[in-house]
Amino acid sequence: MPFVPLRVLLDYAREKQFGIAAFNVNNMEQIQAICEAAQEIMAPIIIQASKGARKYTNDIFLKHLMLAAAELYPDIPMVLHQDHGSSPEVCLSAIRNGFTSVMMDGSLEEDGKTPSSFEYNVAVTRFVVDVAHSVGVSVEGELGTIGSIEKMAAGELEDAHGAVGKLTIEQLLTDPAQAVEFVRRTGVDALAVAIGTSHGAYKFTSPPTKDVLVIDRILEIHKLIPECHLVMHGSSSVPQDLLQLINKHGGSLRPAWGVPVGEIQRAIKAGVRKINVDTDLRLAMTAAIRTEFHEHPDRFDPRGYLGLGRDSMKRVCRERMEQFGQTGHAKHIPHVTCEEMAKRYLSGFYGENAKPSPVLARASAKNSH
Ligand SMILES: [Zn+2]
Repeated sequence: MPFVPLRVLLDYAREKQFGIAAFNVNNMEQIQAICEAAQEIMAPIIIQASKGARKYTNDIFLKHLMLAAAELYPDIPMVLHQDHGSSPEVCLSAIRNGFTSVMMDGSLEEDGKTPSSFEYNVAVTRFVVDVAHSVGVSVEGELGTIGSIEKMAAGELEDAHGAVGKLTIEQLLTDPAQAVEFVRRTGVDALAVAIGTSHGAYKFTSPPTKDVLVIDRILEIHKLIPECHLVMHGSSSVPQDLLQLINKHGGSLRPAWGVPVGEIQRAIKAGVRKINVDTDLRLAMTAAIRTEFHEHPDRFDPRGYLGLGRDSMKRVCRERMEQFGQTGHAKHIPHVTCEEMAKRYLSGFYGENAKPSPVLARASAKNSH
């Protein structure tokens, strides 16, 4: 059962009105932390890897770690998702490596730094949709540039990915009318929208107000394209107790605020289905490891500190999944394989715009026989 396409999970979450955290991973302990937390509360999960994470972990290692997760947790439906694919090539290599979902981030050009034109974004995203849907893999697109309205810039880079220089308010807030056109022309299953969140720990200089975190924009967009699942990037909450633990044990993080969980819950009510969380997991691991190093400088067994890091991350994962409403849903996710999804896309089940191009669909159908 475990591997499912993103679309299946998000369709179910829409029906039951909850959100799903998408956690970033780079190594075995992080995958274990997410799976153990999911097993405790029987939650379906989205595990995602950026281009940088795939390079760090190595695709073969990542693939086999995920196969191990599927074998050990057969009751937990899992999505393996490519986070911020900067080009069609990145998405295609993810598909070849068994990912059940890919993000084609055409909001930036292939360098991952320069904001792109709308037409470029449509073209690269449509290409990835054609290929991915022909093999039943889901696609997330991005419209607008993820970044801070306080700073009018992208903020911290995520694995060297993020817009460089000053951004305009038009770039930092996804335009609802453009979102309609984008989804119509690309046929994406999910869309990352820009509403003032940014990557990294330093999202806001004080608890955010509605002027710098524009949740209402989600509602506007959701009303216009209810069939497309909305995604919130940069949605860590940056728990103050973790910052304090890190700084108490030799760290030097500046004061930082993230997206309050209450605001994420409001966003879920407004139509968000996938919530990307990375920084909180990094903070949780670092806080535990720093504390251990500081309090027990005589110890040097990696199992000791990595195990504590894993436990700390697991607590945050479980907390977020509970807060987003994932508890208990694992058993009820329909078992739909990528092969079955490919047939659905081809039949027009998800609409004309989500159909793959006829040539690719024919090639994929031939290969599956
Ligand atoms: Zn992101």
